[in-house]
Amino acid sequence: MRGSRGAPTPHRHGGVRCQTIGSTVSEPTVTVELKTIVELCKTRGIIFPTAEIYGGVRSTWDYGPLGVELKENVKRQWWRTMVQLRDDVVGMEQAILGPTEVWQASGHLANFSDPLVECASCHQRFREDHLRETQLGGERVEGTLTCPACGKQELGDPKNFNLMFKTNMGPIESSGSTVWMRPETAQGMFVNFPIVQRTSRKKPPFGIAQMGKSFRNEITPGNFVFRTREFEQMEMEYFVEPGTDEDWHQYWIDARMDWYADLGIRRENLRIREHEDDELSHYAKRTVDVEYYFPDASMGWSELEGLANRTDFDLKAHQEASGQDLTYFDQVAGERYHPYVIEPAAGATRATLAFLFDAYRVEEAPDAKGEMQSRTVLKLDPRLSPYKVAVLPLSKKDTLTPAAKEVFDIVKQRWMCEYDETQSIGRRYRRQDEIGTPYCVTVDFDSLEDRAVTVRDRDTMSQDRVAIDRLESYLIERLPGC
Ligand code: ATP
Repeated sequence: MRGSRGAPTPHRHGGVRCQTIGSTVSEPTVTVELKTIVELCKTRGIIFPTAEIYGGVRSTWDYGPLGVELKENVKRQWWRTMVQLRDDVVGMEQAILGPTEVWQASGHLANFSDPLVECASCHQRFREDHLRETQLGGERVEGTLTCPACGKQELGDPKNFNLMFKTNMGPIESSGSTVWMRPETAQGMFVNFPIVQRTSRKKPPFGIAQMGKSFRNEITPGNFVFRTREFEQMEMEYFVEPGTDEDWHQYWIDARMDWYADLGIRRENLRIREHEDDELSHYAKRTVDVEYYFPDASMGWSELEGLANRTDFDLKAHQEASGQDLTYFDQVAGERYHPYVIEPAAGATRATLAFLFDAYRVEEAPDAKGEMQSRTVLKLDPRLSPYKVAVLPLSKKDTLTPAAKEVFDIVKQRWMCEYDETQSIGRRYRRQDEIGTPYCVTVDFDSLEDRAVTVRDRDTMSQDRVAIDRLESYLIERLPGC
C-alpha cells in the first residue's frame, strides 16, 4: 500500500538499490514504444477506450474479445501458481464495497493519499512526487516545479488527497450509509483471517489469495493500462510465525521473479528494487518491488508488483478495532500469537501490459513467394495467448467448410480457438501472428482426400502435415499447461 510518503514512479534514476536476477545480461532488451502497443490493442480489439462512441472517459479502458482472454489467462496462471499447485495457499473473494471501519483500522482513511499540487494558472492538478521525480530527479531535491500542462511555474503547495472512492449504500445518503470501493484486495484476507484459517484448517505458514478489481482515484492516471482508476490486482497474504518472516520474504521475492520469467518475460527486463527506509509504508519492515523496463521515456523501470513484510500490523490493527480475536493458537507449542504477513501484491492489468511489451517483435520473414517481408509477431507464452489455435480453411468454398468445422469442433473442446475463413491465407497468418496464436491449422482441398491438415508454428513458421485423428494429441504435446 502506498502511504503519504509513497514511492514515486517511475524509477528511472540511479542511486536506488536494484538487481536483475538470474541473468548475466544487465541491459534491458525491450524496445517497443507504448504508442505501438496502444495502436495494436486498438486495431486488434484487445484493449480500447471505454464508451468511445461518447468520447470515452479519461484513462478508462475496455477489454475486447482478445483482451479479456489475455487478462484472464494472466490471472489464471497466477491462481494456478499461487493456489492450485500449492497445498499451503487457499483462495477467497471479498466484496468490493466495504464499511468505513475496515479502512479506518487499516490506515487507509488516514494515510492512503498522494501529494497534490494545483496550477494557479490553468487549474490542472498533478502528483507533486511524480513532478519532482521527472523534473528534478528526486523526491527530496529542491527546485521550482513547472506545470506540465501550461508551462507556468505557478504550482501551489502540496495537499494530501485521499485516493479512495466513496459511495452510499441504500436510498438514504448519510454518514451511516457510507461505503468504500476497496483500493486494494489485501484487507479482505486480514478481516477474514479467522474464518478462512479455521474452515480451511491451515496452520502457519499458509496463505490466502485473492484476485479482482480495486479502485483508486489516481490524480494522474496514464500510460495506457499501467495506471488506471479501476484496475485488477492479484494479492496473496502469507501468514508465518514471527522470526521466520525474513526467510519467507526472500522466498517469495525469488518465487515471484521466477513466475514472470517462466511466463516469458526476459530476465534482463526485470529487476528487484529495494525500498529505502524513508520510503517504507507505515506497516512494513522491508519492501521490494519487482520492476519491468518499459522503454518509454515517461515510464522506464516501473513497478509490476510489491513484496512487503507487513509484520503483524494488520491483524493487530483489526483486532484492536473490531474487538475480535485475530490470533493463531499453536496447539503444539501451547502458544497464541499474531502471525507476521508476507505480501506479494501484483497488478493483473499492469502485468498484462508488461507481457504485451515483452512479447512484441518485428521480424524479417519470407512470404509465400520467398520475398523477405517484415512481420509483427506477439511471442506470448502459449499459456497466455488469447487463442491457442486458429482453424483456417484455405478458401471460402463450401466444399471445405464441413471438414474445417469438424476440425474446429475437435480443438474448441479443449482450447479457446478461432475459426476464420475471410481474406487470403497469408493475411490470416499475419493476423494470427499479431495476436499471438501459437498454432494455425489449415484445411485445404487435399484434406478432403488424405484426412490431414497443415499445422503452422507461430515462432518458427515451420509447417507439419498432421492427420486429423492425431491433431489433438499433436497439439496437446505442444501446448503444455494450456
Ligand atoms: P504505484 O506506486 O505504481 O502507485 P503502489 O505501490 O501504490 O503502486 P500497491 O499498493 O503495492 O501499488 O499495489 C500492488 C500492485 O497493484 C502494484 O504493483 C500494481 O501492479 C497494481 N496497481 C496499483 N495501483 C494501480 C493502478 N492505479 N493501476 C493499475 N495497477 C495498479
